[in-house]
Formats: sequence, structure tokens, C-alpha cells
Amino acid sequence: ALREVLSARLGRKPEDIIKLDANENPYGPPPEVAAALGNLKFPYVYPDPESRHLRAALAEDSGLETEHILVGCGADELIDLIMRCVLEPGDKIVDCPPTFTMYEFDASVNAALVIKVPRLPDFSLDIANIVKMVEQEKPKCIFLTSPNNPDGSVINNEDLLKILDLPVLVVLDEAYVEFSSLQSRMTWVKKHDNLIVLRTFSKRAGLAGLRVGYGAFPLSIIEYL
Ligand SMILES: *Cc1c(COP(=O)(O)O)cnc(C)c1O
Repeated sequence: ALREVLSARLGRKPEDIIKLDANENPYGPPPEVAAALGNLKFPYVYPDPESRHLRAALAEDSGLETEHILVGCGADELIDLIMRCVLEPGDKIVDCPPTFTMYEFDASVNAALVIKVPRLPDFSLDIANIVKMVEQEKPKCIFLTSPNNPDGSVINNEDLLKILDLPVLVVLDEAYVEFSSLQSRMTWVKKHDNLIVLRTFSKRAGLAGLRVGYGAFPLSIIEYL
């Protein structure tokens, strides 16, 4: 783990280091998780590439059918996969800083251009400017985070519906949805063919080290991923 790398560099015990920069849960997962991992029967066999057990559990958890759900090595892998699937070099994405920095990083890995529409002083989305930029720049997708990292602000239904009306693929990152009073919008992907919703066990379950993320996708997109 990164803690051990930092331990060697700083000359401090790994247990004495608390990382604060990546929003990991300093308390770790519930003890049942360690017990379950200790009882893994087939760690020497490659996993089911379709993650059928996990997706069935997530379907029950979210109320969305398994055929809409895809599991990845963290939500981060899914962000990169989405971009590889929809972007050609030179295509554009919309990013609304200050926010999670992986969207911009993966855009540059995928040779895409980033149109930045900064949030307003209260950290809410600048909807008028987003509408203008989508019309003017014709981006392929927009990344939205609710609750947002780093400020925790949430996107209301009215604003989200306005953006879903635009001709752009909307990727809604719900990494922190369990820490807010919001309901997840995972089931919305059945009504909106241009919506993807991302979730992760890193934050909700304190399992950042296991790299397990998942997402809800329209059927028209999931088959390519
Ligand atoms: C932590 C975080 C992620 C990354 O999730 P992983 O599943 O660990 O890759 C994605 N989005 C946001 C907004 C985050 O803060």
C-alpha cells in the first residue's frame, strides 16, 4: 500500500501515517470484510469477467437490473473506459472545476480537449455557461460530480434534467452519494439514453485498496464497454 511507501520515505511507522489527500476512510472497512477476504476459496483462479455475483448483489442494492450494471477496477477504470469508447483524438469533454481531477487527466491520456466551465462562487454548476459551451463546442461528454469532490455540493434534479436535455453524454459521478441525503440516480439510465452513473466501494465501504467500482449504463453503451 501507498502507506508503506510513505513509511519508508518518511521514516515513520505505517500505522502512524494517516493520508488525507485521497478521501480514504481512515477507519477501514467493517471486520466482516477481513473475514470474508480471509475465506476466499479461489484466489488463484481468474475472476468471472462478467462479475455476475457482484452485479446481482448491486442490482438488489440499487433497484436497477444487472444488464445495466458494469463493474470495473475502481470508478477510475470506468472513467477511462468511457473516454476510450466515445472519444477520438481532438474530441472535447466538459469539466466543471473545482472537481475530481481524473476527468482532466484521462482526457489528456485519450488525446481529448477539455472545455472548462468553472463552478459559481457557491460551487453550484454554471448551467447557462454549460448550455452555451455544449452548443458552441459540441463536446462528446460532460463529467458531473454529485456530491462534488472537494466541496460536497449536490446537483438538483432540475439542473441535471436541463443538462440531460443537451446533445451530450452525461457522466454523473456519485462516489460520495452514500454520505449525502441524495438518492442515487442509477435507475435514471433507463429513462435517459445519454446518462451514465458511477459509484464505488472505495468511499462507501472503505475499500479503496481493493479497486472495486461500478456504474449504471444505458444498454446502447454498455455493450461496447
Ligand atoms: C475517489 C473518487 C473516485 C475514484 O473511485 P475509485 O473507485 O477508487 O477509482 C471517483 N470519483 C470521485 C469523485 C472520487 O472522489
